[in-house]
This record gives sequence, C-alpha cells and structure tokens, in this order.
Amino acid sequence: MTEEVIRCTRCILPDNYPNIDFDENGVCSVCKEHEQKYSNIDWDARRKRLERILDRYRGKGKKYDILVPFSGGKDSSYTLWLLKNVYGMRCLAFNFDNGFLDPGALAFAKKSAAKLGVDLITYSPSFDLLQKVYKRALEVTGEFCVACVVLMPTAIFRAADTQGIRLIAAGFSDMLEAPPSWSSFMDRVYFKNIMKGAIPLKELKWDYFFPSWKRMFKVKQINLPDFIEWNLPMIYDTLNRELDFGKSMADVRYDCLGTPHSSFLFKSRTGIGKYEYLYANMVRCGVISREEALSTVDEREPKTAPEGFNEFLALLDCDMSIMDGISEKSILNFKGRNSTVRKLAIKIREMIP
Ligand SMILES: [Zn+2]
Repeated sequence: MTEEVIRCTRCILPDNYPNIDFDENGVCSVCKEHEQKYSNIDWDARRKRLERILDRYRGKGKKYDILVPFSGGKDSSYTLWLLKNVYGMRCLAFNFDNGFLDPGALAFAKKSAAKLGVDLITYSPSFDLLQKVYKRALEVTGEFCVACVVLMPTAIFRAADTQGIRLIAAGFSDMLEAPPSWSSFMDRVYFKNIMKGAIPLKELKWDYFFPSWKRMFKVKQINLPDFIEWNLPMIYDTLNRELDFGKSMADVRYDCLGTPHSSFLFKSRTGIGKYEYLYANMVRCGVISREEALSTVDEREPKTAPEGFNEFLALLDCDMSIMDGISEKSILNFKGRNSTVRKLAIKIREMIP
C-alpha cells in the first residue's frame, strides 16, 4: 500500500478519521478506548450471567425458547450451535434477505440449519418496496444501508413476537463489528423523517414500524459475544469439526452483495472506508496482523467506483447524479429521536430480566 496517509502504528486507522489523536508512539485514540473498554473483563462472571438468563427462558416458549438471527456466517453459526448443543435451548433460526443476500450464503445457511437440526425461517420483503426505500435513502443521505438498519431489527423482533418467543440471541460482536460511533445514529424517527414525502407511511408500516417499540420491550435481546470470549480460532475449529463449515479465518466475506458499493459511498462521504474501519477492529482484536489488514484493504477498498457500480445504482433506480454533493449528505441532516428518550429506551431494554 502506498503510504501517503499517516496511520495508527497499532491498528490501521488513518489520520483523517474523525476526532482521532495519536500518542507519542503513534497509537491512536480509538485503540486506547478499545483497550479501556475490553481489558479486565471478568468473562467467568459474564458466562454465569448468560447461564442465568438462559435458565430463565429455557422451556418457556411455545415451540421455541429463543430466536437466533442466522446468516450462516461464523458468528451466527457458532451462536446457534452453542445454544442448541451446549445450552440445550429450543432454537428457531431466522434468516433475513435484504434483496442483496449472496445466494451462496442462503444455501449455506439452509445446509447448516439442517445439520444442526434447527428450524429455519427466511423473510425477504418485496424488492419493489426495498427499491423505493433504498433509492430515497441514497438520494438524500448518500447511503442506502440506512434502509437496512431499521428493517433488519424490526423483522427480527416481529419474527420473535409472532412466534411467541421472548428471547433473541445474536452473534453480533461489538468489539469486531460495531460501526464508528459517529456514523451509527439511526432509529425509527430518523427513518420516518428521511422517508417523509417520498413513500406513504402506510406502505412502510409492517416492515419498518411493526411491532411498536412498547411491544418490543417484551422481548429481551442479547449478543453472545458480550458474555463469552469470542475466540475466533476456536470458533472456526468447532464449526469445521461439528458442521463441516469448510471456511478459514482468512476467508472474511460479507453476505451482502452491496458491501463494496456501500463502502465506496461511505468513503466518498466521510473520507474513511468501511473495510478500513472493520479491518482496524480485527487488528485490534488480534484476528489478523496489521500487514495483512493493510494489504487486504488495499485490495478490497474501492478507490474509484467499484466494478458494477452503475448497474447497482440502476437496480436501485438511481444513477451517478446521486454522487453530486455527496459529502454534504448525512442522516444527521434529519431529525432523530430525542437523545434522552433514546438513552432511556436503551436502559429499559437492558433491564428486562
Ligand atoms: Zn489504532
């Protein structure tokens, strides 16, 4: 990689990352925050807390105790395996298709669920609706991912709600996958304001606003990597041994075929690439080396519009004119939920026993 950019000497974040500082050794402030947040965690205590939660819900649902959002990737596969085979939970796997799901990923998810002996449901909203939502989001915020950020959790909660399931357990690793805090504001209020005037609320109701958040408070959601040390070499070993997973750690892939395009748009808007950010996380967590991350980012991070970009825009009924003034576009130009209400809602959610 040509190093015109100054980067953190520990991870790979560049100096144009918002609000970044470097110490005398060139280590960035994001690395420092990471260290503070994730060192000294009492994993033993957390595992016990997880066991107490699972004990509370085991055997309580009608047919299922727990819903597991399931893409067929390493994290959700391990989550499902652990809950079914180690913790004896009656699981329902839930697969969601945002219209750009890699067909190979869905086939793989079906095969794995069958091997695990777990029921799987898939939900794919009609592409007509998705297209309108993506188009609007892209035109006014410069990103189409905002359309999924509300759609996906809503679909997951609705699936649990309609099946009478009161516990959702995902394999989302905050440490590895959380987006930058300055880019991840999105809630139903933002979404509603972004769509206002473009799509009648009535058309969006089921996919974006049902169930109501009051009803969502009746369902507890947890992420297994918050309770268990997410040891990737061990996870791959387990999956290869138990499920013929047939993948290795070097094989990081995204199930959404829109990823290169969204990364390019994100970089055009913020100056930072999504891969750059995600690989910086992986370096910090010791999943890959700094050198590997730099060369992978160099290879995958699109510097110009990625292959098939025009075709992708056409699928969303858009064209290159969406790039005009893209650096000015942001969801933050819209009104979101009052931050006190947001914090309170998160607190209440966490308090669900
Ligand atoms: Zn760093």
